[in-house]
Amino acid sequence: MRDFLLFLENRDRFAVGLFRQFKIEETPTRVLIVTPTLEYKAWVLEYIRSRLSDYGKEILVTSKEEGKGKQESFDDGIQAKYTFENFVVGKSNELAYKVCAEVSACPGSYSPLFIYGGVGLGKTHLLHAVGNRAKMLGYKVVYKQANDFSEDMIKSLKQGKLEEFREKYSQVDILLIDDVQFLSGKERTQVELFRVFESLQARERQILLVSDRHPKDIEDVSERLISRFVSGIIIEIGLDEETKLSIVRHKLLLFGLPTDRRHVDYVMENTGYSVREIEGFIKTIKLTGIKEEGRKETSKEEKVLSLVARHFGLKPNDLRRETRERKVLVARQVAMYFCKTLLHMSYSQIGKTFGKSDHTSALYAIRKVEEKRCTDRRFDYMLQVLEKNLRKHIS
Ligand code: ADP
Ligand code: MG
Repeated sequence: MRDFLLFLENRDRFAVGLFRQFKIEETPTRVLIVTPTLEYKAWVLEYIRSRLSDYGKEILVTSKEEGKGKQESFDDGIQAKYTFENFVVGKSNELAYKVCAEVSACPGSYSPLFIYGGVGLGKTHLLHAVGNRAKMLGYKVVYKQANDFSEDMIKSLKQGKLEEFREKYSQVDILLIDDVQFLSGKERTQVELFRVFESLQARERQILLVSDRHPKDIEDVSERLISRFVSGIIIEIGLDEETKLSIVRHKLLLFGLPTDRRHVDYVMENTGYSVREIEGFIKTIKLTGIKEEGRKETSKEEKVLSLVARHFGLKPNDLRRETRERKVLVARQVAMYFCKTLLHMSYSQIGKTFGKSDHTSALYAIRKVEEKRCTDRRFDYMLQVLEKNLRKHIS
């Protein structure tokens, strides 16, 4: 373990004298420095930012003066259960994690920060983690779902308290807005968010936004707001196989289940790329145990159907029928597409599998998927992930 003061001594003999006056706690991954006053804290934060960014551990600074009273009577919306400590880090979420940890220690360092990715990948978790960490360091933070932000605005407008509303959101150190895609079509909310945005930026405070899609793919949001969203750092969050494996192990432990191969493989094989799904599945095992008798030899074609169905939250048989329901329709087309591209089935074989007497519907469905892949980045990404998963199961 490296010793913070020793490291500092080699670097800057004058500063080390000052640092010795602070309470310093060090673990293998982080250093916590407690300063007597807020002035010292500001100095230390600046010093770390400019001189100690290469120490190799996370450095947190807090001061004895802050904390109490400041956050009282202010509902910040932050949930204590989501922290950096219980967030499993891997290749596909590492960048998001690191930048989030940084902005929570040093609000304004990357503002605005925009994180996007599919459902159940830990976006909301990270927002609350930022909130919790930043609060611990004495910053004022507020978390809002875009919908709740909107409701809050409308309520304030009706009560003639719009000024208070603006004031409330403009005086924080960190504004966390979740599910930004729900701003679609809410014109007045967008206007107000824009104002808050401008005033926070002017004060070099931190704005962190989260969405299920890239800002440019959010519809019905004003150009000027989107241009603000894309003016900072944009990070995509995903879930790769290796990270999924770490998460599965972590969650099994958390639920008091064994982490042997049997359990790990069972969860890996029966879940898609969503941590929420993994958690749900593990909760079920906790209640029912592993049901291996349910597993039987299945054909490749059935595997494609069942994996695609599960990915969309459907049952394999849902895909065998024609439908107008949007979600089922897309899932069905995707399943047909993979029957062609991965299993090389003929169009008429595919037609039969999906309850059609001829090959034209398969042809049409596959073309649709190909077209959508070219124009919709999220859809394309989803298919890449799904394809990787399918290849593993049918090889
Ligand atoms: P999103 O907002 O991206 O849809 P959430 O943040 O709500 O996803 O995450 C869904 C669930 O999965 C939460 O219970 C969260 O704690 C958990 N989770 C997601 N990612 C991770 C991770 N990397 N490590 C631990 N738990 C995670
Ligand atoms: Mg969320």
